Amino acid sequence: MPELPEVENVCLGLAQTVVGQTVTRVSLRRADVVRGSCRPTALLRGQVIQRIDRLGKQFALVGQQSTKGESPGSPACVCIHLGMTGSLRFYPNTRTFRPDNHTHIVWHLDDGGRLAFRDPRRFGGLWTFDSVASLKETRWVKLGEDALTITPTRLHAGLSTTQRALKAALLDQAVVAGLGNIYVDELLFGCGVSPLRPGYKVSLRESQRLVRKMRVILKRAIKLGGSTLRDYVDTSGRSGGFQLQHRVYGRSGQPCMSCGRELLYAAIAGRTTVYCRGCQS
Ligand SMILES: [Zn+2]
Repeated sequence: MPELPEVENVCLGLAQTVVGQTVTRVSLRRADVVRGSCRPTALLRGQVIQRIDRLGKQFALVGQQSTKGESPGSPACVCIHLGMTGSLRFYPNTRTFRPDNHTHIVWHLDDGGRLAFRDPRRFGGLWTFDSVASLKETRWVKLGEDALTITPTRLHAGLSTTQRALKAALLDQAVVAGLGNIYVDELLFGCGVSPLRPGYKVSLRESQRLVRKMRVILKRAIKLGGSTLRDYVDTSGRSGGFQLQHRVYGRSGQPCMSCGRELLYAAIAGRTTVYCRGCQS
C-alpha cells in the first residue's frame, strides 16, 4: 500500500505534469470508484488544475475556474486515496496510453495529455467536493497531523492516551497521518523502541526522537522515489528505490543489521510486524 513517501512522489509528479492544465473532458469508465457527485464538472471538467494538496496518504487535485469559460460552477476539488493498488499515471500523448478494464477514470488535458486513475483491487477511490474547505471540514478533519510536520508534543499527546501497542497507534491515521506498515517498522527499529510497547509508555523525549527519525526516514524515502513492493509506480510509471534500504521490513528470520540476532515476527493490529528484541525495547 502506498504510504506517505510514495504518495508524495505521485504529488510531485502531478505538480510537474498536470498542474496548470485545463481538463477538457473526463471519461468516467466506472462510476462506483467515485464517492460524491460523479458529474464531469465535479471531476474538474472545464477547470484548470491549480495545485495538489496532500495530507498523509491522501491528496487532492484542486481546480480553478477556467478563464476560457468552458463550464459554469464553483471550483471543485477531487480527493484521491490510492488504497492498495491504485495509481495515477500521466501520459503526455495518446500514443502510449492503453486504458484497460482497471482504468476507471481518464482526464483529458488541453495539451493532449491524459491522466488515468487505475485500481485493480478497488480499495482506493475518489471523493468529490465543491471546495477545499469542504474536503478539510468533512474528510481530512478525521486525520491527524501529517507525519512530515507533526510536532513531538502532538505525537506524544496522541500516544499518551492509548493502551494499544505502539505499532497499532502509529498506524492509526487519526494519531499521525501518512505512516503504514513499512515505515512504522523502519521507524521503530531506527529509534530502538519495541512495536509491542503500549502507547502511553512512550515518553515525550522518545516522542521527540520518533518525530526526528520519522522525518529523516520519510525524506530519504521520498528522495529515492518511495518503496515498491509489488505494484507501486509514480505518475511516469517508475518504481521506487527505498525498498533496497529497508532494515527490518520484510526481513523476519534474517539477522539484525545492528546486532546479528534473528529478527522476530509478530502480528499487531492484524499487520505483519518485524523487529529486533535485542535492539528494541
Ligand atoms: Zn538487533
